[in-house]
Amino acid sequence: MRSLKGKNVDKVPVCSVTQTGTVELMEMTGAKWPQAHYDPEKMATLAIAGHEIAGLEAVRYPFDCTAIAQSLGCKIMEGSIDTQPSIVDWACKNKDDVKEMNIPENFLGSERISTILDATDIVKERVGEDVPVIAGMIGPAAIAFSLAGENYLKWMITDPDVVKELLEIGTEVCTEYSNALFDHGVDAVCIPDSEGSPDLIPPPLFESLILPQHRKLTGKTKGMMILHMCGDATDILEPMATSGFDGISIEEKVNARYAKQVIGKRACLIGNISPVATLLAKSPENVKQEAKMCIEDRVDILAPGCGIAPHTPLTNLNALVEARDEYYLEKGIL
Ligand SMILES: [Zn+2]
Repeated sequence: MRSLKGKNVDKVPVCSVTQTGTVELMEMTGAKWPQAHYDPEKMATLAIAGHEIAGLEAVRYPFDCTAIAQSLGCKIMEGSIDTQPSIVDWACKNKDDVKEMNIPENFLGSERISTILDATDIVKERVGEDVPVIAGMIGPAAIAFSLAGENYLKWMITDPDVVKELLEIGTEVCTEYSNALFDHGVDAVCIPDSEGSPDLIPPPLFESLILPQHRKLTGKTKGMMILHMCGDATDILEPMATSGFDGISIEEKVNARYAKQVIGKRACLIGNISPVATLLAKSPENVKQEAKMCIEDRVDILAPGCGIAPHTPLTNLNALVEARDEYYLEKGIL
């Protein structure tokens, strides 16, 4: 939390602000996907395993990106032990659907959202006040994409006002839901909003359409907010740094040293060990090497660059924390 607030710390913390569920942790705890997406007790148990067993210095949940979309009327497939739930049918098939789109009055009481709020209560009760609790939810651009599907990119060019309407809905949902999570004791909310990434849309459109929504969201939420951006976000680092988010989580496609130079003290830099090329595929020794380089590049929180792949070996997650400890020992700092 000190890192997120830009304060001095003895050593860089290690956690994941993106999904943490792995098959190994599921087998060890009995809290498996897909049930752990829909059952608060299982969700809490698997999330806490990321801290107690994998050693990550925060508890982070949920493990997928469909809760908001489903609560707004999208149809989803529930997934399996090693695949996340996914959207199979979008709620807004045409522009008229967008006009009729309303946030359900009982949005916070919907099955998926109340499951996550209930999981929060269980997590807080089990881990107490000393372990930061991070909840994730998709951001305004990701919500607009979840609702409009393939029309999202098309409308962005042909009907930006329609996209803006969807983004406004997204911002309202995120604000209400984030503040509810803070009321339940969550320490930080992480918003993956990669449908605004330069991999998908040109940076000027990010600045004109999405950045204003991010500013509105961070202006109205009452706790620490983290923005996660998938893909190569190099070209939008500057606007992201002015979006009001306390933390910015980047992938390995972005050079961390350069990112820190651009962002400076305006936000906490989080990242950026490759979850697939490194954490899933390499040895603990390789993980350690890259993790130490990452700290050397001045990330403020050492973390995977995106969601942890379900088949990631536990030894590689443990190696992240060990690498941080070794880094400071080798430097003679601790
Ligand atoms: Zn990502």
